[in-house]
Amino acid sequence: MIHPIYGKHFDVLVVGGGVSGCAAALAAARSGASVLVVEQNGYLGGSLTGCGVGPMMTFHAGDKQVIKGIMQELVETLNARGMSTGHVPDTKQYTSTITPFSAEGLKLILDEKLHEADCTVLFHTFLGAVEAADGKIKALTLCNKDGMNHVSAKIYIDATGDGDLATWAGEEMAKGRPEDGAAQPMTMKMKYCGVDTARLKDWVLNHPERFPKLAPHFSIFRQDVPVDLEGFDEEFRRAKEEGKLSIRRENVLMFATGRPGEYIINTTRIVDHDATDAMSLSDAERIGRQQCAELDQFLRSFVPGFEHALVEFTGPSVGVRGSRQLVGRYTLTADDILNCTAFPDRIAHSAYPIDIHNPKGEGTASTFMSKPGTYYSIPYSIMVGRRTENLLVTGRCVSASFEAQAAIRTTPTVGSLGQAAGTAAAMAAAAGCPVWEVDVPKLQQALCSQGAYLEI
Ligand SMILES: Cc1cc2nc3c(=O)[nH]c(=O)nc-3n(C[C@H](O)[C@H](O)[C@H](O)COP(=O)(O)OP(=O)(O)OC[C@H]3O[C@@H](n4cnc5c(N)ncnc54)[C@H](O)[C@@H]3O)c2cc1C
Repeated sequence: MIHPIYGKHFDVLVVGGGVSGCAAALAAARSGASVLVVEQNGYLGGSLTGCGVGPMMTFHAGDKQVIKGIMQELVETLNARGMSTGHVPDTKQYTSTITPFSAEGLKLILDEKLHEADCTVLFHTFLGAVEAADGKIKALTLCNKDGMNHVSAKIYIDATGDGDLATWAGEEMAKGRPEDGAAQPMTMKMKYCGVDTARLKDWVLNHPERFPKLAPHFSIFRQDVPVDLEGFDEEFRRAKEEGKLSIRRENVLMFATGRPGEYIINTTRIVDHDATDAMSLSDAERIGRQQCAELDQFLRSFVPGFEHALVEFTGPSVGVRGSRQLVGRYTLTADDILNCTAFPDRIAHSAYPIDIHNPKGEGTASTFMSKPGTYYSIPYSIMVGRRTENLLVTGRCVSASFEAQAAIRTTPTVGSLGQAAGTAAAMAAAAGCPVWEVDVPKLQQALCSQGAYLEI
């Protein structure tokens, strides 16, 4: 017998249960919409739970918190249960604060919050096809243990990270850098347990010349806050010269999760692969795990504190920084970020800088706003396509240039975008209007009344 959800016409259907999709689903459901979430994994959280990403960075511009709302609610719930340290100073001061958390904790509280909000969640379900005509999505074909079935809704939200839904609905999409289409590299994360933090910190503090980015902030590093550390360049170079490391990076980047001895290693680099090409993505998983195996030897041989540490897991899936971007009603640019364009239709703020991992090899280029403590605005129109009246796109695949996406892709920011998309979707569903006719001042008021930080 076919399950009744396949016959139900939902108000809002969210494809992708990452942090942007979850925030969208919660916001839509709390605004009174009936919501279906479709997720290919067996858990929520996307990159934060399925690719080992962490910490969340950043909620702050200097001392000022510029991201609140649902993302802040998640942090407070995690923190109250001992599953996050809350916002702590960034030992490297790349951003003013970072927010370590337990990925297992996040899975659990996302389940709870979406369940409490009465969202229907279909796990282990992949978007297979989109039926669109006359500028409207009519239905989606889903593939799961029930076989192939159709679902439909008034408003659809693409929170797949890769823009799968928008692409198949016929929206124009861009990919990678304009000059060659190359995307930022993918990274297979590793999570370690049993790292001797005291030994690691001691070694670093005794070798300030080896950590030029960190040394000016040793007063923070000495405190009892989770480590954000980049270095071991000499050892890394030597291992590459000796053919023991094939990673196109120049050093090790690591973050403590806040749990004793647990670290995330953000160091592998898979270049020249395309996350929207199934064979290329499959190859990236294999290469990522191979690089992790090399890195494990390296860390245990050359990084003090890792001698007896153990790999908890890789991935589980390779992390994708960027793939397709919507070409929407507006495309956010690097200038908008660096000059803090005051968009009348702003729906979120962020202070994360432009952070580009070299798509072709070594090096990471960061461009910061001119003054510390500066934050920028993000407009609603980057989530609105040009053709499909009942589709919003949120998360890391919104309409943004290669550089701008490299700033707004991090999790507090994409969560805020999700909250705005979900609220707008519920409004459009209730009004029966195209998403580009949503009353933006009302949307802004609604976001403020939900506790989002928004300067209007
Ligand atoms: C290596 C790496 C390091 C990073 N480091 C940080 C960091 O330190 N701090 C930080 O804040 N951010 C970091 N980021 C950025 C951040 O993790 C992501 O940009 C952000 O999580 C994107 O959220 P999202 O909801 O847009 O997409 P995702 O988290 O990618 O979620 C998309 C969801 O959609 C599902 N999905 C996709 N396609 C389909 C489909 N066709 N059918 C059904 N389901 C589908 C996926 O399974 C997934 O759950 C990092 C990213 C990477 C890759």
